[in-house]
Amino acid sequence: MKTVRLPSGELVAALGQGTWSMGEDPAQRAAELAALRLGFDLGLTLIDSAEMYGEGLAESLVGEAIAGRRDGVFLVSKVYPHNASRQAMRRSCEASLRRLGTDRLDLYLLHWAGSVPLAETLEAFAALQRDGLIRHFGVSNLDLAAMRELAGLPGGAGVQTDQLLYNLSRRGIEHDLLPWLRQRAIPVMAYSPLEQGRLLADRRLQAFCARRAITPAQAALGWLLAQDGVIAIPKAASAARVRANAAALAQPLDAEALAELERLFPRPTGPVPLEML
Ligand code: NDP
Repeated sequence: MKTVRLPSGELVAALGQGTWSMGEDPAQRAAELAALRLGFDLGLTLIDSAEMYGEGLAESLVGEAIAGRRDGVFLVSKVYPHNASRQAMRRSCEASLRRLGTDRLDLYLLHWAGSVPLAETLEAFAALQRDGLIRHFGVSNLDLAAMRELAGLPGGAGVQTDQLLYNLSRRGIEHDLLPWLRQRAIPVMAYSPLEQGRLLADRRLQAFCARRAITPAQAALGWLLAQDGVIAIPKAASAARVRANAAALAQPLDAEALAELERLFPRPTGPVPLEML
């Protein structure tokens, strides 16, 4: 099973599970729970959520999915930027923990940069770490300038990841942010690795997959998994799709396939402003 090392030294699964828009439809709940639990069984043990997703509904679903197996998962959640202050972050984190049915998060991320100064957010993370509510902290949607600022602040060196939009059709970070993170051994957590499903309908990808008898999801995730220091967090609400995604781990792409994907989905010719969804 491929793993990625965090700056803390800890190894986490390179393929995880996203949960945006899960837990919102009672009719889908049983299938979603079964999908997440199957994912854990197949080694997709890193799970990503946020207080924003369904305003807590996704975290409640995750809480149910991890009940009885908390120690076997690496639990990630995110705080809204407007709650990333000294006072509000503790309340947010405690509410997330209640919904998740656990006493600690493995990784707590600032969802995106807002008006609370990063220095204050770092202090708030440090207080939660000191009191054992979170084990590690990180960020999401921070561009190179913001990462540079963060790294220069007291405690900033403790950042464990920048969760970013990254997939075959969104390669802008390869020009500036990704090399900067790699130099510091900070992994990228690639969100929307399937471009929210749109990538799977891409004709270039479909033709590539038809020639190799693999699925578009396997190709898109396999390309990410072949990159150094990249964790991918696809969201799949059915067991069949979780199985299809896990196939990317079981059957890595060979060098020739990776080279062809590079040709089919070239990176932009120069740096682009950080894209986000
Ligand atoms: P993804 O790129 O993971 O795509 C999800 C979509 O693809 C869903 O419609 C899903 O269907 C479909 N899908 C999944 N697997 C397959 C498959 N094997 N075959 C066909 N279709 C498939 O999009 P997300 O935006 O959900 O990104 C993943 C996660 O990243 C989020 O859930 C969230 O946790 C995180 N995220 C973080 C953001 C941030 O700002 N930090 C922003 C966006 C996402 P279905 O669900 O119906 O099975």
